[in-house]
Amino acid sequence: MPQFVDLHCHSTASDGTFAPADVVRLARDSGLAGLALTDHDTIGGVAEAAAEAEKLGLAFLPGIEISCEYPHPGTMHILGYGVDPENPALRDLTTALLAGRDDRNPKIIKRLQELGVAITMAEVEAEAGGTVIGRPHIAAILLRKGYVGSIKAAFNEYLAPGGKAYFDKERLSMAEAMRRIRQSGGMPVLAHPVQLRTTNDAELERVVKDLVDLGLVGLETIHSDHDAALVEKYTRLAERFGLLKTGGSDFHGTNKKDIRLGTANGRQVPLAFMEALMKRHQELRRAG
Ligand code: AMP
Ligand code: FE
Ligand code: FE
Ligand code: ZN
Repeated sequence: MPQFVDLHCHSTASDGTFAPADVVRLARDSGLAGLALTDHDTIGGVAEAAAEAEKLGLAFLPGIEISCEYPHPGTMHILGYGVDPENPALRDLTTALLAGRDDRNPKIIKRLQELGVAITMAEVEAEAGGTVIGRPHIAAILLRKGYVGSIKAAFNEYLAPGGKAYFDKERLSMAEAMRRIRQSGGMPVLAHPVQLRTTNDAELERVVKDLVDLGLVGLETIHSDHDAALVEKYTRLAERFGLLKTGGSDFHGTNKKDIRLGTANGRQVPLAFMEALMKRHQELRRAG
């Protein structure tokens, strides 16, 4: 029987709506053999998820997802697999990432208030429940209060680039993000390359080549935003650059209603992807 995993998902530690242990239980209930938790800018959910995975006998990898400086309209997200929670470099990294949010979020709220929306930073903090406060938490409040009809609409009208209350956050450069993931004992992987919105294959290859030169370990070939043609294209690209293939749903619970844990646009992620990542992690650790 083939076994499957999900290497990209979010919990309440960032902008998912399931607690870390609940994500792991859902993985078990969905028949998955393993999971990596990849919350934005934090490993705050990793200890709880790891404990639950151990209890349920699922393979588990700690992870983090970081967005880097990248020209609009694209976005570059780097996943860091196997980061070490005890590593001081990781603590410094997450502190810096949170500072970027703490600077941006009040600007969004102030602008929304100027637009006549009844919303406060305290409400957003309560909605988030944890340390990482993101736009989906603001979107959830706009939806609940009836200002918009969906999370998507909240982004389109207010929170996405071009929206009435859009503010960008301070981001790390791609080189800095790569360096700090590696310093933290992690393996950098390019998330959902489709979201780079590169205009042609040559440009995509240049970006991947630059990342490879900075120590990229893998490419997320399977993702909810990738159709069959893209999976095929990114698989060939990964093979050409000697990169590991990874994949995941990008599950966010009810913040992304159409995404189910363990399934990415109809595809599943083979356990072998996760085993190869774990093996590479051991090799890298042994090499120091
Ligand atoms: P933030 O990390 O606060 O900048 O918010 C980014 C998060 O918002 C992403 O990780 C997604 O979960 C979500 N997001 C971004 N753009 C959209 C969109 N257009 N519709 C729905 N969710 C989005
Ligand atoms: Fe998210
Ligand atoms: Fe992402
Ligand atoms: Zn994600």
